Amino acid sequence: MHELPVTESILCIVLDEAKMARAARVTRIELTIGRLSGIVPECVQFQFDVISQKTIAAGATLVFNRPQAEIRCRHCRKSFLSEGFDQLICPTCEGMHVEVLSGRELTVDAIEWE
Ligand SMILES: [Zn+2]
Repeated sequence: MHELPVTESILCIVLDEAKMARAARVTRIELTIGRLSGIVPECVQFQFDVISQKTIAAGATLVFNRPQAEIRCRHCRKSFLSEGFDQLICPTCEGMHVEVLSGRELTVDAIEWE
């Protein structure tokens, strides 16, 4: 359950931004969660619903962008896209010694309020 600190930070960022904008209610939050971040969107959603109760972000819709991870094989130097931890073997040479170029991102991209 290592999503909880992450979900708390997301809520904290959202509430800060909404407060600055003097929003009455947060309606939609767009997030990018990389495939290799180890964060499960369903857990974030569940935790968010729980911890956002009694805040102006209660009931907000979470939208998750899940970009593919970019991996480079250290053996043949070719890059490839991965859906997650179970796809970290180079499709070209089947090498398992790879470098993660992207896929661990975790960002709040957009917040909508009224
Ligand atoms: Zn390779």
